[in-house]
Amino acid sequence: STVASSKTLKLSEQLAQGSRYALAKSITLVESSRSDHRAQAQQLLSYILKKQRDQPLTKPTFRIGLSGSPGVGKSTFIEAFGMYLLEQGHKVAVLAVDPSSSRTGGSILGDKTRMTELSRADDAYVRPSPSRGTLGGVSNIQDFTSRFYLNQLLTNFTAAGYDVTLVETVGVGQSETMVAEMVDMFVLLVGPGGGDELQGLKKGIVELSDLVVVNKADGKLADAARAVSMDYTSAIKFLQPPSPLWKTKVLRVSSRENTGIDKAWEAMKSYFDTMTSANKLTEKRGAQRKVWMWRQITSELVDRLNSDDKVKQHVAELESKVFDGKMTSGQAADSVVDVFLNKVKEDRI
Ligand code: GDP
Repeated sequence: STVASSKTLKLSEQLAQGSRYALAKSITLVESSRSDHRAQAQQLLSYILKKQRDQPLTKPTFRIGLSGSPGVGKSTFIEAFGMYLLEQGHKVAVLAVDPSSSRTGGSILGDKTRMTELSRADDAYVRPSPSRGTLGGVSNIQDFTSRFYLNQLLTNFTAAGYDVTLVETVGVGQSETMVAEMVDMFVLLVGPGGGDELQGLKKGIVELSDLVVVNKADGKLADAARAVSMDYTSAIKFLQPPSPLWKTKVLRVSSRENTGIDKAWEAMKSYFDTMTSANKLTEKRGAQRKVWMWRQITSELVDRLNSDDKVKQHVAELESKVFDGKMTSGQAADSVVDVFLNKVKEDRI
């Protein structure tokens, strides 16, 4: 309706002015499962995209994904790193992708108070841990892709003037791959006791990483951190680099003692400059938007298919045939799609 659209327009203007309230409200809209909210969110995004076409941003934006096992020091690192970025004159937004919450009821990223200093800073926005049933609290990949719209949240942040966005995730399931698909640069945080990632199972994550940061390189842990850092450096030589232009770097920091944080930012800036000057970042972002478009098409089609009673009944029958081995899954899938398309045609007439 026009009332809704004038409200949304106002929200987009407040966002452009950098209102935190508008930001929180926009994210809530995007995360909501209510269809009117989702429609409003889509409208908001198209306003923002239009605004950006008319008035391209002068400030470059940088999206960094950060992953690591629980306890490696993600919150501590983000707090130290975020405060450092603020000192450098940046505005920082922190988002979290937590694949665990809806299944376990709690969240791995933690309900503890996190990043207290950064949360209070004027030029930072830290999204509180997602609650159950909202974004971030996702029960499966389907929800993740259809509801998270993280790339779009990032657009919101951009409109609010946050030039650096950190997207934090835990190494569970496919969340890391998904985050890597949404950001410009992917950073893996490991601990001095670590190296688990090198042991096969999680090698894929190391391969996705543009930078490996070994945290807790302080006090009694300093030697162990050096050893882990050397392990990663030699292992990476045998892995496929994430981009032909960039060789994955390994660095040591102490988030607690605030050392190495500047070097970590230097490495990230160097990645950014390398990619930007080769025009690769625009290309990467464009390709990512296409991937998300297809995820959303898939998810939207499945949603529509499941919302039709006639199709649903047909699906139930075929599922039991597939279960009993009377039909192959491929035959059943073809048949479901045919019935759905026929239904769509009938609805037209
Ligand atoms: P997260 O679960 O990955 O977010 O980890 P946290 O940031 O909550 O940190 C887990 C534990 O490691 C806490 O007890 C921190 O105080 C500790 N920690 C974090 N960073 C460092 C560091 O640089 N050095 C040391 N020695 N401990 C750290």
